[in-house]
Amino acid sequence: MRIVLLGPPGSGKGTQAEFITEKLGVPHISTGDMFRKAIGEGTELGKEAKKYLDSGQLVPDEVTVGIVKERLNQSDCEKGFLLDGFPRTVAQAEALDGILKEKDTGLDAVININVPREELLKRLTGRRICRNCGATYHIIFNPPAVENTCDKCGGELYQRKDDTEETIINRLEVYKKQTEPLIQYYKEKGLLKDIDGGQSIEEVTKDIGLSLGRDW
Ligand SMILES: [Zn+2]
Repeated sequence: MRIVLLGPPGSGKGTQAEFITEKLGVPHISTGDMFRKAIGEGTELGKEAKKYLDSGQLVPDEVTVGIVKERLNQSDCEKGFLLDGFPRTVAQAEALDGILKEKDTGLDAVININVPREELLKRLTGRRICRNCGATYHIIFNPPAVENTCDKCGGELYQRKDDTEETIINRLEVYKKQTEPLIQYYKEKGLLKDIDGGQSIEEVTKDIGLSLGRDW
């Protein structure tokens, strides 16, 4: 199966991606991971991407599309794939359609994990990290035994700047603005599977399976 997975920060997308790819036996293609790998291997596209990232700019579509195309041409993608973090824009979605058309294939489904904004805020602002060992906690879902203290090493816990309410509201707004046209694009193609991401991890996993015609 050829799948695109969409979901805002805090939607549990990473956990679901791991489960789906394991069940379907297809590669999990995360553009974030791919950039890191291409840069590490020093490929032409990796060098190109590094130029932008080093100067704090967004990587242009042609570079991102190039990296995705390279990856989709590898033999392990013949039986399918799950794309995570790509496409982000309608232009990228059209480019993806073009890449797949060249191979006489297309997407089977676009899974869109929806979580109410209040729930996302609760999930994302609750994150805490140990200053000493980097262990992660959540004040509601995974609290340490002693408040503000790491269970593993006794270090002090802190909140990353990225996890403050103001930053998160901004990130969620950017995500919404960016993906709304994309969601519309896939809806019109009849590929969109809306999933209620406000449920437990297990329930979300089950609903994703059902939307793909699998009872797992
Ligand atoms: Zn610690």
